[in-house]
Amino acid sequence: MVYAGIIGYPLRHSLSPVFQQAAFDHLGLAARYELWETPPESVDNKVKRLRRPRYLGANVTIPYKEVVVPLLDELEPPVRALGAVNTVVNREGRLVGYNTDTIGFMLALREEGGVDPEGQRVVLLGAGGAARAIAFALLQAGVASLTIINRTPERARRLLHSLEPGGRAGVAEQDSQEASEALARCHLLVNATSVGMKHSSSEGECPLGEEPVPPSALVYDIVYSPEVTPLLRRATEAGARVLGGLPMLIYQGAASFELWTGQKAPLNIMFKAARAALGAS
Ligand code: NAP
Repeated sequence: MVYAGIIGYPLRHSLSPVFQQAAFDHLGLAARYELWETPPESVDNKVKRLRRPRYLGANVTIPYKEVVVPLLDELEPPVRALGAVNTVVNREGRLVGYNTDTIGFMLALREEGGVDPEGQRVVLLGAGGAARAIAFALLQAGVASLTIINRTPERARRLLHSLEPGGRAGVAEQDSQEASEALARCHLLVNATSVGMKHSSSEGECPLGEEPVPPSALVYDIVYSPEVTPLLRRATEAGARVLGGLPMLIYQGAASFELWTGQKAPLNIMFKAARAALGAS
């Protein structure tokens, strides 16, 4: 038996064990995917143990995506620039760090949303860990402009500064004229805040507040629980096209799966398992 798992703290609502195990089982692999809830004082040891032969590697989530970087032996080149890892692969005792959040975000956008962001005007809500990976991926993909709006504008400015985006990106204060204008003109609106997430203090809320949804944009909410968030509901009512967060979650997990096993991930099986678990939660 070999093992993979997710390292984070706390880990109550992770869907990864459900759809990763379904993928292992479908392909008949003698592998188990576990929840590795890891308090801060144990992270070093947990990562060190991943070098043992029985471990394929791990996913890494809040709050450790940046913390694990110096604990690894090698980083895939984009990760060096991004500075955050969500997938660790054990290559014969050497730990290699990847970020499949960027891959998952882009694949979902292209495959399920039917949008190539090159040359597009984009508004990104949020400035946390997910927003960071998404801003990085969008700038690499050649967006025409990127406007970041966050409840704490200082955090958005720090994010922008760390990405060295040149002149294409900026921060707009929430509820400002600048934010309204960017929203009205955007081709793609991405929510990377946790607002609207089930079981959170903002469950049922929409991250746009009083701002209207841009009707000609693709509205992409990376929150995946509930599958139809308050933002997506409002966007559909406004006539906008919508994309939820589940495809990003599955595509990032599928990319991790392929790095660990060298086998093609059974996407349909992973979607089905995740949807069943979401429906039951
Ligand atoms: P994070 O690092 O904790 O960042 C949270 C973000 O949400 C920050 O921008 C924060 O603003 C904002 N926020 C939180 N509560 C808010 C509120 N009540 N009003 C306004 N803004 C609020 O979290 P993360 O890792 O970036 O994850 C963000 C969301 O994306 C989560 O719901 C997570 O489940 C989802 N996600 C989905 C995928 C996927 O594959 N679909 C992948 C990663 C994450 P401040 O800076 O002002 O605190």
